[in-house]
Amino acid sequence: MRPARALIDLSALRHNYQLAREIAGARALAVIKADAYGHGAVRVAQALETEADGFAVACIEEALELRQAGIGAPILLLEGFFEAEELALIVEHDIWCVVHSSWQLEAIEKTNVGKPLHIWLKMDSGMHRVGIHPGEYQAAYQRLLATGKTAKIVLMTHFARADELGSVRTDEQVAIFESAREGLTAQVSLRNSPAVMGWPNVPSDWVRPGIMLYGATPFDQPQSVADRLQPVMTLESKVICVRELPAGEPVGYGGAFVADRNMRIGVVAMGYADGYPRQAPTGTPVMIDGQRSQLLGRVSMDMLCVDLTNVPGAGLGSRVELWGKNVLASDVAASAGTIPYQIFCNLKRVPRLYSGA
Ligand SMILES: *Cc1c(COP(=O)(O)O)cnc(C)c1O
Repeated sequence: MRPARALIDLSALRHNYQLAREIAGARALAVIKADAYGHGAVRVAQALETEADGFAVACIEEALELRQAGIGAPILLLEGFFEAEELALIVEHDIWCVVHSSWQLEAIEKTNVGKPLHIWLKMDSGMHRVGIHPGEYQAAYQRLLATGKTAKIVLMTHFARADELGSVRTDEQVAIFESAREGLTAQVSLRNSPAVMGWPNVPSDWVRPGIMLYGATPFDQPQSVADRLQPVMTLESKVICVRELPAGEPVGYGGAFVADRNMRIGVVAMGYADGYPRQAPTGTPVMIDGQRSQLLGRVSMDMLCVDLTNVPGAGLGSRVELWGKNVLASDVAASAGTIPYQIFCNLKRVPRLYSGA
């Protein structure tokens, strides 16, 4: 069998969830949208179900997958419904729902929902993507109340730049949120992973950690909480071929790397069809039999090349960690000009093997 695989450490996941909740001193919805950032939403939800206060996903399809797998915990739809018809399913399956736009409010007013809804009313406090305008927020809240169709309303907003520890924008968003919701005594939810980790003074009855659950940092600089996270996914494969290359010989498509001395090259069964970023350049870190080395040349669909020259003892069959506990996904992502969120979500084709359940 092809040796490429993703090992998912569920005990690390639980550690990270507990850390998020402990630091935040709040209830925490584990964000498991997009198939738990490539980690497998059902397995992740099952691993967290006994301790998690609830889960958050992007859409009803993702929520129903969890319900069908027997997950009974609260599930929040982060974008609410896309069509009013979904309200019937939301009620039937007891799903919590974000309201971010006035058209959603109107749909609730017009629909006979049968059972009271659990709504998270989202304010646009400055990200300017979705959310009710601060000046219209109180009126939207009152309209929602007046429908008589809500069991509970949580006030929420989302940060645009909490991953930038030097930015004033997060404090500005908090101030806008706090002033726009003045007098409303409902629970609030503001913090995503970077805000849980880096903005301890932001109020939140509920936090919404995503990336930190998977053990990756949202910051592009060292950060104290980041050091306490445990990477959950290890993407690994093996060396399937070894080449001795004299100086001056190129490696891979486009001859993007040329041996600058006599080198030993390992070919690894891993490529961009598995989700390894094609943009990762020569020099991107890898770990071979426990020793750090580097990627060489262009990543192809099913294979990539690594430097074995200074990895004594490594050769055919050597284990290669592309990212995991030693090579951080955030470092690989940075090297490829992207973020760990994207490289996790891009994972495909490789089997996921779970441990620590
Ligand atoms: C995805 C998402 C989160 C989680 O963000 P992380 O940066 O992964 O912690 C939190 N809140 C909302 C509204 C989201 O869409």
